Amino acid sequence: MAISKRIVLHFPPRLVEQPIIYRLVKEHDLVLNILKASVTPKEEGLLILELSGARKNYDKGIQYLTDVGVRIQSLGQNIMRNEARCTHCGACVVVCPAGALSLDPDTRMVNFDEDKCTACELCVLACPPRAMEVHF
Ligand code: SF4
Ligand code: SF4
Repeated sequence: MAISKRIVLHFPPRLVEQPIIYRLVKEHDLVLNILKASVTPKEEGLLILELSGARKNYDKGIQYLTDVGVRIQSLGQNIMRNEARCTHCGACVVVCPAGALSLDPDTRMVNFDEDKCTACELCVLACPPRAMEVHF
């Protein structure tokens, strides 16, 4: 059975320059789509990615990451838009790295595609009327 999940990986500084992602993909036959990356030598690294593959490979891959010391966080929280507050100003569109927020050229309204959202929360900070909300 195939599985696909969005997860956040936190790399402690000692692991940032090691080929962990290379081994994850090569040795566990998984496919990954990196949604966001923040990696600086000697500092904690962060990767938000979608990891897909056969269930048993996925589980082995997660075990491998845990064994080497990567902290794994599920993207369990949801980002929701408070429609009553949104003024369709567009400020969130430019900060969204996942393309989940887009401006409709015809209506000039901002569309929110929840399926593309990686819950990075950048729009929450960028939205002037605080229309983007984090729900747990
Ligand atoms: S920044 Fe806030 S108010 Fe502006 S379009 Fe985005 S969600 Fe709506
Ligand atoms: S949290 Fe906001 S900025 Fe981040 S992916 Fe979702 S909609 Fe885009």
